[in-house]
Amino acid sequence: MNQLLITADRVITGPADHVIPHGAVLLDADRVAAVGPAAALDASVPTEVPRLRCPGATVLPGLIDCHVHLSFDAGPDPVRAVTEAAAPDLATAMAERATRLLAAGITTVRDLGDRDALTIPLRDSINSGTASGPRILAATAPLTSHGGHCHFLGGEVVSDDGIRDRIARNAAAGADLIKVMASGGALTPGGPKMWEPQFTLHQLRLIVRESARHGLPVAAHVHGTETITQCVDAGVRTLEHCSWRTAEGVVHDPETTRRIVAEDVAVCRCVSGDWQLFLKQMGPERAQAMIDVIGEMRQAGVRFIAGTDAGVPGAHFGDYVGMLEFFASLGFGHPEILDMATTTSAHALALTDTGSLAPGMRADLLVVDGNPLTDLNALRHPRHIYTAGRHLPV
Ligand SMILES: [Zn+2]
Repeated sequence: MNQLLITADRVITGPADHVIPHGAVLLDADRVAAVGPAAALDASVPTEVPRLRCPGATVLPGLIDCHVHLSFDAGPDPVRAVTEAAAPDLATAMAERATRLLAAGITTVRDLGDRDALTIPLRDSINSGTASGPRILAATAPLTSHGGHCHFLGGEVVSDDGIRDRIARNAAAGADLIKVMASGGALTPGGPKMWEPQFTLHQLRLIVRESARHGLPVAAHVHGTETITQCVDAGVRTLEHCSWRTAEGVVHDPETTRRIVAEDVAVCRCVSGDWQLFLKQMGPERAQAMIDVIGEMRQAGVRFIAGTDAGVPGAHFGDYVGMLEFFASLGFGHPEILDMATTTSAHALALTDTGSLAPGMRADLLVVDGNPLTDLNALRHPRHIYTAGRHLPV
């Protein structure tokens, strides 16, 4: 038996209002075997099972980053870096970035666009225990229009058949989901503007239908207000960025937001750790408009999930708490933010075995000093990290 009993001042089992004071978690290999009051578990678990006693600490589920790009380097010109790198060098760099994510307490990531499906062998090595890193859900090459956002990743499609073919290829490569660049983006030189659509409603519907045929959900990169509505019409599961842009500025459509809530579509705002600089660059008016829209969506009941867009300029791997602090600055409560980082994200990614601590769940958990329910900074330097029961540092 490969068991361990961890005790701490509190165990947040998830959702974050479920807290066991003086709690304990019993790990059995890669799974959680029991969760409960420390005194009771201490008494019932055989004395030969090792104890890890963590006074002053909190145990909580491992963090989830729903939007990363392991193949980007977070430098000033990631496009050039990713296109010019030799595949073996890029694979090595991606493996190193994965270890940095895990060291920050992130036990699950969704990679939303890579080159040459290089995320797949990395994911498989991590799953088999030959490499260290978070569990990865991989989108491989994102579907985009001719010359469209991130076309350099190899996912350009120009016809219905091209769409079917690309999805079949991603599925054959082992993708866990399909990513579509539904509107333009900031990163791509000469690409469509951020609010401009890259696909028609017919094409978006085809992408969702075709992905479903392969058993895959769809995540949509989308900034444009009209395209957000079309993505919801088409049935995508998560909206990435969802910044409600038009040529005239930010225009929120509350009716679409109502449907986002009703249809359980999750919204990943993608906030990097340097968001303060980002807001400054936007200027006070646009920044306020963006903040107001997030407030309106929250009011309407939108489920926000946690994503940093790690890999794009300024979005450093493992700088996760900065993103959480952005939501705190908007008045989100700490329990709400912890849920965003754990249970809500797990639900949005259709992962039923992580994001909370209960018997049978994967042993994805952190031990942090202090109490993140009152101080998010407590998450910055986890004392212990377990991913599927494997301990880091080893
Ligand atoms: Zn992205």
